[in-house]
Amino acid sequence: MSKFFTSKKIYDNVTLISCGTVQGFLVEGTERALLIDTLCGVGSLKGFVRELTDLPVTVVITHGHVDHAPGALEFGSCFIHPDDIALMYSDRCFSKERRLNFVNMAYGKSETFPSQAVMSDVIDVQAIRTYPVYEGDVFDLGGGVKIEVIEVPGHTYGTIVLLDEKNNCVYSGDACNVNTLINLPGSTTIEEYKESLLHFKTYQDRFDVMWGGHGPASVPKTTIDDGIALCDKILAGEDDAIETVTTSGAPGYLALERGDSFLPKAGGTCNIVYSKDMLRRRPHPEIKGEPNLIR
Ligand SMILES: [Zn+2]
Repeated sequence: MSKFFTSKKIYDNVTLISCGTVQGFLVEGTERALLIDTLCGVGSLKGFVRELTDLPVTVVITHGHVDHAPGALEFGSCFIHPDDIALMYSDRCFSKERRLNFVNMAYGKSETFPSQAVMSDVIDVQAIRTYPVYEGDVFDLGGGVKIEVIEVPGHTYGTIVLLDEKNNCVYSGDACNVNTLINLPGSTTIEEYKESLLHFKTYQDRFDVMWGGHGPASVPKTTIDDGIALCDKILAGEDDAIETVTTSGAPGYLALERGDSFLPKAGGTCNIVYSKDMLRRRPHPEIKGEPNLIR
């Protein structure tokens, strides 16, 4: 029994691992297992995973955010898209204080985790081996279990989605869901995000379900179509544009008014938070905000 993590089998060879309101996935083949996202690096995820599988474990990160990447510190290596490596090593992601605060915030929102984490629970920062992954790369886990990389920049420039054709699904991190944040430092413009979704859509006949990094646990693949239509609305200035601030404190506009269960009142399963100064493509990617303090 872990103080920090719970697990649930979602397919014969796939376990959903959650920590508060965030979730990662352990996919097992016959020769190795792939851990997709590693949560906040608070508590021993490596120990928890060891109880789930005897196979050697490869780690891949959907994007370099505080609630997805820092658990990789304990594993010593991870696969990640090169465009998110700097973000992962920034204080926004690896800072021990930030991780502790984030986890306690996530716990505060989750009835399953009434306890609070303390600093000694937070995994130390160290340099880890980062292996690049790109569009089309395939993790061959043995026994016909193959997981393919799809690049979907938007939420971050280096966001990837992992396709699991055997189980008819993708593991989509924060790429496209009921609360897609495209207003963060390191997010793309809405114009670029729409292009990403059009690219993602070319894979749509190879899966049905999208397992994201936050609840609801999964959304249907039509979420991509909802996202494309919503980008068009935003670019045309025809969305609800409700002023909002994300839990991490980033200001933005919520594209569609929410109804029950966090879903858009108007229907569909995609909603977007965006910045009005980040609608159209810019000549070069820019990370907004304070420069990192290197220590
Ligand atoms: Zn994220």
